[in-house]
Amino acid sequence: MTALGDFMAEQNNSKAALDADAPEVKRALGWAHTARFRTTASRLAELPQTELPEIAFVGRSNAGKSTAINTLTQQKRLAFASKTPGRTQHINLFDLGPKLAPDALFADLPGYGYAAVARDAKLRWQQVMADYLDVRRSLVGVVLMVDSRLGFTDLDQRLMSFVAPRVGNGSVKLLVLLTKADKLNRAEAVAALAGAQALLGELATEQADVSVALFSALKKTGIDDAARLLHRWVHG
Ligand code: GDP
Repeated sequence: MTALGDFMAEQNNSKAALDADAPEVKRALGWAHTARFRTTASRLAELPQTELPEIAFVGRSNAGKSTAINTLTQQKRLAFASKTPGRTQHINLFDLGPKLAPDALFADLPGYGYAAVARDAKLRWQQVMADYLDVRRSLVGVVLMVDSRLGFTDLDQRLMSFVAPRVGNGSVKLLVLLTKADKLNRAEAVAALAGAQALLGELATEQADVSVALFSALKKTGIDDAARLLHRWVHG
């Protein structure tokens, strides 16, 4: 498993190594910035069939998913559509890459665990998420947002169990962003990272590609590393 972010950077990378990474980070951020709304779907059957590699963003509602998408794409309101009434339970797709030749998709999946949603609606959406993560062939990676102060909840673990077979066989990569890391002191941040790594260790196989990083939209922590990783997932 890879731990991305400042702590590893401090330990492993000399300044020269970080500077050498700069062009790649710039390219990755430029690519992420091209994201634009493509379509919204309330059922899996409504999703366009496409060969484009797709990266799904998932997380409990309020985990900071919309903020993370907006921060990664350097756009103020890209993930805003996901928050408008009537669209909160839709899958929103965004194109990336050149305008006339998109090379990837971001899929913003509905946040789960929102207390006010009726039980049968919750179960229905759990099923849609499970099916999406199981059957979407073009899915190459999942970015799971977890509130760094709360850690993995039962629902996060259930979500991970939906995608665990594909992570285990290496067909889908996983990045866990521990969000709102600005709210943690250093000791808490180290503990949050260690806790996540311990839990994610359960997914480890020869093929599994799992990363975890502290992330803060406020302090701009983890953004460069996350952008570079997603760019690599798509472009190698
Ligand atoms: P979503 O429901 O997962 O899309 O969550 P949002 O992106 O709407 O964020 C939920 C709340 O967390 C909002 O009040 C955000 O302002 C706050 N938030 C998101 N990211 C950060 C962060 O990096 N730092 C802090 N301190 N707050 C954040």
